[in-house]
Amino acid sequence: MIFLMILVLLRITGVNNRMLKGISASPNIAIGKVFVYEKELKFERRTIDEKEVDNELKRLDNAIAKSKSELVELRDETAKKIGEKEAKIFEAHLLMLDDPALITEVKKRIRSMTNAEAAVDEVVKNFVAMFDQMVDQYMKERAIDVQDVGERIIRNLLGKEFGSLADLREQVVVIADNLTPSDTARMDKAKVVGFATNTGGVTSHVAIIAREYGIPAVVGLGDVTKHVKSGDLVILDGGNGIVIVRPDEETVNRYRSLMTDLERQRKELEKLRELPAVTLDGRRIEIAANIGEPEEVATALANGAEGVGLLRTEFLYHGRNSLPTEEDQFTAYKTIAEKMGERPVIVRTLDIGGDKPPPYLEMPKELNPFLGWRAIRISLDLTDIFKTQLKAILRAGVYGNLKIMFPMISSVDEVRKAKKILEDAKKELMEKGVSFRKDVDVGIMVEIPSAAVIADSLAEEVDFFSIGTNDLTQYTLAVDRTNEKISHLFDELHPAVLRLIRNVIDSAHIKGIWSGMCGEMAGNPLATPILLGLGLDEFSMSSMSIPEVKRIIRSASVAETRELAKKALDLPTAEDVRKLSKEFLRNKPKSQASI
Ligand code: PEP
Ligand code: MG
Repeated sequence: MIFLMILVLLRITGVNNRMLKGISASPNIAIGKVFVYEKELKFERRTIDEKEVDNELKRLDNAIAKSKSELVELRDETAKKIGEKEAKIFEAHLLMLDDPALITEVKKRIRSMTNAEAAVDEVVKNFVAMFDQMVDQYMKERAIDVQDVGERIIRNLLGKEFGSLADLREQVVVIADNLTPSDTARMDKAKVVGFATNTGGVTSHVAIIAREYGIPAVVGLGDVTKHVKSGDLVILDGGNGIVIVRPDEETVNRYRSLMTDLERQRKELEKLRELPAVTLDGRRIEIAANIGEPEEVATALANGAEGVGLLRTEFLYHGRNSLPTEEDQFTAYKTIAEKMGERPVIVRTLDIGGDKPPPYLEMPKELNPFLGWRAIRISLDLTDIFKTQLKAILRAGVYGNLKIMFPMISSVDEVRKAKKILEDAKKELMEKGVSFRKDVDVGIMVEIPSAAVIADSLAEEVDFFSIGTNDLTQYTLAVDRTNEKISHLFDELHPAVLRLIRNVIDSAHIKGIWSGMCGEMAGNPLATPILLGLGLDEFSMSSMSIPEVKRIIRSASVAETRELAKKALDLPTAEDVRKLSKEFLRNKPKSQASI
């Protein structure tokens, strides 16, 4: 009976302390209000009767009015924060809301006894189909805008509080089934204090951007969206992969005090920022940051990055309705190059496909997108798009220390073809008399097992390697990196992955080039001593991981880590490797700030 009463009371107070366990994707704790991001709007489709018509028309008018005021606000905010050009898109959406072809048609359907949500949906679908069939690329791309506008009206008909991730009004924990680059491209990250998703693993897109922005995140929760609604309070413990729904006061207080402890630890590590990553026996290691947007340069520098080891250029291609021009790209690369000054910035050419298709490129539906038309494979087919990007990088190279890196290389042939297109791009710039960086270093990502195996041949072709362990692990172990059902099998410390890494680094050194790593493994403290022992020259990681990795490097000697790596490579399982590394780190002092 008492138990029942407690249950009733908890219901009334909105407290239930339900704990959900997922995969730790980005450390630290967030306590905040939930924003459930639903991509698919659920609504019923029904035939209304005569007396409902007026009411449905009124609901439609109200939803349109609300959509207009949201768009006006979005337009003004975007113009102020990003630029007039970017704000134009919302201007176009506003015009659509006044377009009689669209609105009159919706009203006509309501008068023919269809409920408002279904009427909007039907009309929008017809428009999208019409735009899709157009030959003109510009008109084709308008389909996305109509879809966006339709979705906004339907959201407002359903009384959903927020329009999209682009117009978050307050600090929230974003909870969704999954978040793709297109979802996060226009998201105001300053308003996000945490992420939790049903699907995904440690190297899925949302996990990577969460770490890059230092936002706590838990992925692979299975059905977190079923347990929360927008406005609920949650605690998100990113380090332990836990989400606590509607926590009681005591739990909130406990986590608040944990947050204070973590903040103290962070401050302690902060002292390392300005110190170099030098081992006890004097080997200097280069520490760089992975960034996915120009705004991240500041965080990278603040955390002590000595360069950018991976600039994911997809940010230029997502969250928009058409391909970025050479000028768009040049401006973005130049800004980053200038901000980084003398420090190296490795610009990775386009890596779309797989889990990252932009809406305007016609990507075929593939059965195995990660094994499909992706990254360099697209660039070598759509050479105009590739050349445009290369020209922009070459031109921006004049303003800093840019290097070019090709993703998803599986053979020597691909490198040669890519380099040939790079030469064509240089020639075109030369003919036009445009200034550009002529001696740009060219490298490849080693992220496909075939490339790791023939690293000796590939090293003849390029100036550097960067090991992409997110894909290298996925392909070596045949584990889809975004599939939470098999995420326990995704393990970069698997001896097979370690042996491939050893081959890549050794081959690079034999041929006289350097090898870095930009996969998430480079920021995994448990992997740090092993990678150090294998001779990795550069570690590139999410900015937030830099201080801890620096601390470990400064507390170890190359000689002892060589021994450790040798042992690790002979072990039969990833778990054994983990144990060995933990034991090694346990014997190290906690803070090396004073060394
Ligand atoms: C990788 O595969 O390790 C990598 C860094 O690239 P991405 O995560 O962008 O595929
Ligand atoms: Mg990759």
